[in-house]
Amino acid sequence: MQQYCSACDAEVCHERICQEFNVRGETIHLDLPVARCLSCGTQELDGVDPAERAFAIYRAHHGLLTPERIREIRESLGLHLMGFAIVVDIPEDTLKLYEGGVANEPT
Ligand SMILES: [Zn+2]
Repeated sequence: MQQYCSACDAEVCHERICQEFNVRGETIHLDLPVARCLSCGTQELDGVDPAERAFAIYRAHHGLLTPERIREIRESLGLHLMGFAIVVDIPEDTLKLYEGGVANEPT
């Protein structure tokens, strides 16, 4: 599918850029697909959320649970957020963030 620049409507080409992202004091190197305008040079990320990707890499590095896995475990115990937060001894808001995809702390 041909894409067009949102700034000037010219054709774009697809490239990859390197971006550094800081997750809890650790630098994560991302290789991201971008669409670069051949006319005005505007770069737009190609349907990726850099933060989400950086968190996923960080989790993989540290062997952390994914948000889906945390939710699965909680639901397998038949607990709501508040109950599970008490069981694992973290604030309910923090648990909500973890299930929402923010990288959890390495243990
Ligand atoms: Zn353009």
